[in-house]
Amino acid sequence: MMQVDQFIQVTLKERLKEIFGYSQFRGDQEAIIHNILAGQNTFVIMPTGAGKSLCYQLPAIVSGGTAIVISPLIALMKNQVDQLNAFGINAQFLNSTLSKAEMTKVKKDTLNGNLKLLYIAPESLTKEENLDFLKKANISFVAIDEAHCISEWGHDFRPEYRKIRGIVDNIGNLPVIALTATATPKVQLDIQKNLQMEDAHIYKTSFNRKNLYYEIKPKVDAKKALIKYIKNNKGKSGIVYCLSRKTVEDIAELLNVNDVKALPYHAGLDPLTRMNNQDAFLNEEVDVVCATIAFGMGIDKPDVRFVIHYDAPKSLEGYYQETGRSGRDGLEGNCVMFYSHDDIVKLEKFNKDKPVTERDNARHLLGEMVSYANLGSCRRRQLLGYFGEYVDKDCGFCDNCLKPTHKFKVQDEVVLALQTVLQTDQRFDVNHLSHVLTATDNQYITSYEHNRLAVYGKGKEFNESPEHWCSLIRQVTILGLLEKDVDNYGVLRVSQKGMNYIEDPYPITLATDHNYDQQIADGKADDDKDVQPSNGGNAYDEELLGLLKALRKKVAKEKGLPPYVIFQDPSLEEMATTYPVTREEMAQINGVGMGKVQKFGRQFIDLITKYVDDNEIETAKDVVVKSTVNKSKIKIFIIQQIDRKVDLDEIAEAKDLTMEDLVEEIEHICYSGTRLTLDYYIDQIIDEERQEEIFDYFMVAETDNIAVAMKQFTGDDFTEQELRLMRIKFLSEVAN
Ligand code: ADP
Ligand code: ZN
Repeated sequence: MMQVDQFIQVTLKERLKEIFGYSQFRGDQEAIIHNILAGQNTFVIMPTGAGKSLCYQLPAIVSGGTAIVISPLIALMKNQVDQLNAFGINAQFLNSTLSKAEMTKVKKDTLNGNLKLLYIAPESLTKEENLDFLKKANISFVAIDEAHCISEWGHDFRPEYRKIRGIVDNIGNLPVIALTATATPKVQLDIQKNLQMEDAHIYKTSFNRKNLYYEIKPKVDAKKALIKYIKNNKGKSGIVYCLSRKTVEDIAELLNVNDVKALPYHAGLDPLTRMNNQDAFLNEEVDVVCATIAFGMGIDKPDVRFVIHYDAPKSLEGYYQETGRSGRDGLEGNCVMFYSHDDIVKLEKFNKDKPVTERDNARHLLGEMVSYANLGSCRRRQLLGYFGEYVDKDCGFCDNCLKPTHKFKVQDEVVLALQTVLQTDQRFDVNHLSHVLTATDNQYITSYEHNRLAVYGKGKEFNESPEHWCSLIRQVTILGLLEKDVDNYGVLRVSQKGMNYIEDPYPITLATDHNYDQQIADGKADDDKDVQPSNGGNAYDEELLGLLKALRKKVAKEKGLPPYVIFQDPSLEEMATTYPVTREEMAQINGVGMGKVQKFGRQFIDLITKYVDDNEIETAKDVVVKSTVNKSKIKIFIIQQIDRKVDLDEIAEAKDLTMEDLVEEIEHICYSGTRLTLDYYIDQIIDEERQEEIFDYFMVAETDNIAVAMKQFTGDDFTEQELRLMRIKFLSEVAN
């Protein structure tokens, strides 16, 4: 058994590289694949962009027979089939858009075992004739993508999805793998029940999307700000979400007038126009789609670089889903929301006519969104906390982390707030608690007799405003002192950490809320503070990357495929970093399997070869030739991480390197001619004056030898590492 397992492991990893061009599995991918290959029901909950598709694609390829993939949208199916075909895999879809002849071919391929993946919409699955044929076929397993469509609690309920279980039973006794990016406990339970897979092994990973940058701007001069933002991101793909069809149309037009290629997308357009506009976006004929929330599901374009919420969204669920469409490939993804209280008032008006429970729910969701926008706490901690994931530190990569609001310290107030939760029996939400603290009387306070509690009105000694207390309570919840009741959302309880805090309190730093309305009233668009995380000095050869992208576009057009199906951005960036000039070197690029080398490699290799010759490039090629494959992978990883301003400690940890090893690797990269910008890190650990001192030294020094430099600075208390980092900075700025 052992041997078989090892054998599978080796082949799986080999197949991963050979077919998909990836050298490593991501997260739980490998365990998931083993589970489904062992014939067990599997439930995968991972955020968008985590790599769910591979979890059923690879096992389908290595299994005998055909895997059925149930997917809600025809557009999505076509997209995935295109991508798999580009990898040289026989995958096809079965849906109402096929002609009779095409249908027959798909069926024939399935029956004679040539087909590895058959994508099918749930409504086609229920058709009698399809069912008959599937019963005859050799089916390996069933994958249910976007499984949250099963649940009425999800945001995209599709009734046909609830029939899947019955149909699958009809086809045979097959293992099922269900996948979704929506993970509230309620939805999760609903899916498991409906699919009768309570026994399934659940693989749930963090919902953190590390590469996404979250920012909220006051909605002042929003049109101008929008145009400016998009112009600053010229040539990149982006989505602008608006609330109404009319705004969608207006903004699309506005962008076009301002020389941004943009198209509208909303449910009011006829299906053909809608499809054409979507295709134009996928094929990069336009850079921007302005859309209502009708747009997006099933769009797995990996290189969307920004998602802008021109109007505030209705819920954080929606917001997270929509922002999640940026940066799926792990590269840049900027999420910007324009916020004004007027938009919230508009949304509240829409809710007025809804039935009571629906209205209350909508109001609750909107309230959470409003608090997210206004709170000065780390955005990522807020978002993940909202989805039930506790994070123990700020991310350092959101607007609140990068340009914080005013900070203040509290201690006694926090104890008081926690006591209020305890004295009200841990059964109330933030609003009620703030009312008790500030003695803001209402019917609930009197009916629960909370005006008789010891804490009643005590908060006024610190601050009279209920808003202050709401903000404080929310912030200490993010810090883990309070936790939300999963079954009863809104209700807060004191966590163990909070209990300890009451016993042994310590000062805590909080942030003041944003005051967007004031900024709007003052007409302050806060542009001056713009700290949009730029990708600084790029590690790759920008000129070559430009040429590669142009070639990709040309090839894509010839083949009638979206450009990212040919090669994805991370692959092109790697090519523009390592200059592969043989088929073997090309196959080493992450995301480029042998199938792609054969299909598309030639033209790209020719282009790079010519470029390398023309520019007499040797340096970067050395990286490839001199180091083993693995080493150069680490280098590329380091280059990419630095490019994304990840702390060196984190990079070292990710690759299991000591800090010394990492700095050494960085030195190699730097000495082979790649420019690295470490300022973001150096600025944190060495103050400006000291930086200047060292920089000036290297400027006039006879040698860049570290020992000599150490000697020069004896008594100045510089560590060797500081000097090494400064030498890298110096070389990058002056020499590279
Ligand atoms: P999801 O379905 O979870 O939203 P996808 O399956 O679309 O995510 O994958 C997101 C991106 O990650 C794709 O661009 C895919 O090519 C890439 N990817 C998936 N698995 C790996 C891996 N093991 N190594 C590198 N990239 C991967
Ligand atoms: Zn943050």
